[in-house]
Amino acid sequence: CGIVGVVGKQQTKEILIQGLEKLEYRGYDSAGIFVTSPEGENYLVKSVGRIDNLKKKLTKEVSGTIGIGHTRWATHGKPTEENAHPHTSRDGRFMLVHNGVIENFEELKAMYLEDVPLKGETDTEVLVQIISVFVAKHGLDTLEAFRKIVRETKGSYALALIDTNERETIYVAKNKSPLLVGVGDDFNVICSDAMAMISQTNQFVELMDGEIVLVSKDKIIIEDQAQQRIERDSFTVEMSE
Ligand code: GLU
Repeated sequence: CGIVGVVGKQQTKEILIQGLEKLEYRGYDSAGIFVTSPEGENYLVKSVGRIDNLKKKLTKEVSGTIGIGHTRWATHGKPTEENAHPHTSRDGRFMLVHNGVIENFEELKAMYLEDVPLKGETDTEVLVQIISVFVAKHGLDTLEAFRKIVRETKGSYALALIDTNERETIYVAKNKSPLLVGVGDDFNVICSDAMAMISQTNQFVELMDGEIVLVSKDKIIIEDQAQQRIERDSFTVEMSE
């Protein structure tokens, strides 16, 4: 299973697909991507099975300058198209990919989603529906909602979220699951393994468990659990494509 993301490139779709193919070695049963642009349309495409199946579903129109992709190794819910990531909030505003296992998703669901029917059976969907409840019902902004769900979530996760009302930032956090930010020139990327994005950059920034990271095309903002900004240098990955 794995995660990729790109913000700031014209050809986001191809980079995401190539990245997912590089992550195939990690094993997966389904895959999906979401791409959009600040001024553009939203495209969500998912498929069961190989990345080739996903590729076949990608029509010409599917394009965007910001996107996230996911290969899933099902832990909660069968490997169906509905359960494949990215997961969408009921109002269609938020898109989330997740690797790992949310240990307290039943508790979170009981606490916040009493009157929100779920679309699938994954632990992940619970998180994206709660983020939407935090924003729509509790009046938090997206960053506050993301911080709050990360604070309350127990388990292992690499998370990447897009708010389709903004379409400029990928919200990222991790705990006990791998996730790196790759630094480009007027674009940035995220990935579970540097190998997935080595064709785009060899400069990567390590993330620590519990940090909240905002990745946009010209900025990478890292904050710790006390909401203090962290400056961290990138490191060079020596690897051929
Ligand atoms: N637990 C999540 C699911 O079953 C994520 C699995 C993964 O790491 O791919 O959908």
